[in-house]
Amino acid sequence: LGLPLKIKKPIAIIGMGISGKACLDFLLRIKIPRHEIITFDEKSGKADTSDTQTVLKMLPKTFILSPGVPMKSQIVQDLLACGSELTSEVDLASKFLTTEKVIAITGSLGKSTTTSLIGVAARTQDPNCFIGGNIGTPLIQYISELQSQPSKKASYIVIELSSFQIEALSKFNSECVVYTYLSKNHLDRYDSLNDYYSTKWKLTEHCRGPIFINGASSELLCFATNKSKTFNCVMSNDAKNLEKFGINTLRVFGKHNYQNAGLACAVAWFFKWDLAAFQAISEFPGMPHRLENLNEHKDVLFINDSKATSIESVEAAITACSELNRPLHVLIGGKDKGLDWTLLEKFKNTNIQFYFFGKDGKMFQDHSRLSGQVFKTFADCLIALESVLCPKDVVLLSPGGSSLDEFKSFEERGNFFKAWVSKFQN
Ligand code: ADP
Repeated sequence: LGLPLKIKKPIAIIGMGISGKACLDFLLRIKIPRHEIITFDEKSGKADTSDTQTVLKMLPKTFILSPGVPMKSQIVQDLLACGSELTSEVDLASKFLTTEKVIAITGSLGKSTTTSLIGVAARTQDPNCFIGGNIGTPLIQYISELQSQPSKKASYIVIELSSFQIEALSKFNSECVVYTYLSKNHLDRYDSLNDYYSTKWKLTEHCRGPIFINGASSELLCFATNKSKTFNCVMSNDAKNLEKFGINTLRVFGKHNYQNAGLACAVAWFFKWDLAAFQAISEFPGMPHRLENLNEHKDVLFINDSKATSIESVEAAITACSELNRPLHVLIGGKDKGLDWTLLEKFKNTNIQFYFFGKDGKMFQDHSRLSGQVFKTFADCLIALESVLCPKDVVLLSPGGSSLDEFKSFEERGNFFKAWVSKFQN
């Protein structure tokens, strides 16, 4: 397809999730013979092999590492020891970018929301703009599609990157980097918090322009301040901070969303985007399952924050909903991820009604010392809730626990809640 060959063969693809599959598709599209590629996944059936030795026997000159496979894993260490060159889906894709301006977003919380906010703004300037990465479509898919539709070339690439994706970057370069929030996460994969934060910070080494950080994230601000790089600290907690961008109000609510929107405005300002970009930020309706407004039904307002699986997100959601000054019911539960539930104790002497559900609901209640009924399942909790709701009430699902005790994903849990809300309406 006329692409310069920028990858040495044979090639091993390690991990056949969404990005691994997209890489295979891309390599075949650029006419790399199938026998020069081997795919590996621990789960046989997804790949050519689940056997490390079979991969090593092929003596791959390059291996494409999926974000789901830790750098410390045996296969990665063995391949590196054999002199195989490490690349990743994002890194490989970025070798084929030409004039596109890349905006990279990372953080422990708020990545997807901020990526979407920047995305809707960028799209007003460039209808072809690519929005993806960790949030959905792999970047390599954009490169693949460009081969058959060159007119779809984007001016802007808005890409969300997880720490796992950042680990394997080498050639990737961006015009600016956005940090949304840093907090304890993924400590199963990193030796220390410092390791995790440093991996996130590595993204600044792949950036030729400004670094925007959310000044309201104290951990982030503290970490960034101790680094030698200069950065732009964006302070935005309410509409007042956005006035200078011509924004009076946002459709999404909560302080944290003003922070996310503040970052999006800073990016739009940096690229000198016109009014339409700021308008799009102001009108952004929010993302499903993140403080998603399910509207009023029988005068009760329902908010779906099923994605909230960290204490910071739960706190942010409760704080945001408290600002509505209406009787508030908060549904907490699911499977424990080792969070510090004692941090919720600050909501103890408030008028908020708490309800706990699921596998670890009782434990969440014990540790938080909040009073409230405990239910075995989410469905039981909703049945009980139905009989106590009154007009003007607000119901917030911000579980904190993971959904895996009762559901396949946070989306499935959120959709279960939405279906119940529709039934409540009828
Ligand atoms: P990520 O992609 O990093 O997981 P999301 O945008 O999907 O982040 O949001 C995940 C959860 O965190 C949601 O419950 C959301 O309401 C909450 N959240 C979003 N932005 C922030 C922020 N800046 N600070 C704290 N919590 C946030």
